[in-house]
Amino acid sequence: MIIILKKNLSASAVDTIVEKLKSMQLEAVPQWVDEHIHLAIVRGEMEQVSFHELAKFPEVEKVLPCTSQFKLSSKTFKPTPTVIEIKGQKIGDGSCIMMAGPCSIESEQQIHEIAALVAKSGAQVLRGGAFKPRTSPYQFQGLGEAGLRYMRTAADANDLLAISEVMDVRDVSLVGEYVDIIQVGARNMQNFSLLKELGTIPKPVMLKRGLCATYMEWLMAAEYIASCGNNNIMLCERGIRTFETYTRNTLDLAAVPVLKDLTHFPVIVDPSHGTGLRALVAPMSYAAAAIGADGLMIEVHTNPDQSISDAKQAIHPKTFAKIVKKVQAIKVIE
Ligand code: PEP
Ligand code: MN
Repeated sequence: MIIILKKNLSASAVDTIVEKLKSMQLEAVPQWVDEHIHLAIVRGEMEQVSFHELAKFPEVEKVLPCTSQFKLSSKTFKPTPTVIEIKGQKIGDGSCIMMAGPCSIESEQQIHEIAALVAKSGAQVLRGGAFKPRTSPYQFQGLGEAGLRYMRTAADANDLLAISEVMDVRDVSLVGEYVDIIQVGARNMQNFSLLKELGTIPKPVMLKRGLCATYMEWLMAAEYIASCGNNNIMLCERGIRTFETYTRNTLDLAAVPVLKDLTHFPVIVDPSHGTGLRALVAPMSYAAAAIGADGLMIEVHTNPDQSISDAKQAIHPKTFAKIVKKVQAIKVIE
């Protein structure tokens, strides 16, 4: 159930209604949605309380049923798209934000070179992993804090935002110091301790879809972050495991319209991990832009074949530049 409160209520009036609901065994999470405060009933025995009873409260404008398991992430709770604004850059406003950079930050020089090239081509966000979730413990694990430091200076020098993955709840504040957006990788989509911690910090989070996660599991993971107080969430489709082995993953582009129907959070597409093959990055980027993706995350390397990680899906900065132009043109037509 979602309770929409009347406009211009004082903070104490909101507290009063939350307390009243508590006495009825209903736990409500309040949040500003446009000009109103909306209350999502997240716990309690709804059957025992009638809509009429709640609608009669003087503070209440409207009561809406919300049958989905996810509440704060639902369109019932917030019908308008969430627009995340970071240093003047908007995500979710109808544009297609371009996030680009290497799979792994390999050296100071490498990240600076790539940052300059992708910025020139029209990227707004620099990506790069410093804590890498590698299949083997013997593979390169990332440069850690030094990598984040290189990335921050490279991003600042080129007027880019920075995004990087956090794998461990103990590193959340460290990664948060260096980046503008924190990435939760596919392998950690259901690391609930990590999600809860990310819910408590004032940093936008990009939540990648788990390797075998359903839309519902993915949205419930977003709900963990939102229920702890952080509503700056974007969801990233990065392909799922299927029986097909020709591609690394199966990029599920239906996720874009489905999620746009179910949630107000922006939806990003990662055609690099989604296919694992560089030849497929451009066509899948165009497809994602055409169906309204709010952004693309693409792995770019100045020497793609020499990438320390994910070489097969890395594209050259020149290819990236072509993709940006065409995505912009598709967005105009859309
Ligand atoms: C990445 O973006 O660097 C990454 C490891 O992606 P995923 O979690 O989607 O595998
Ligand atoms: Mn990668």
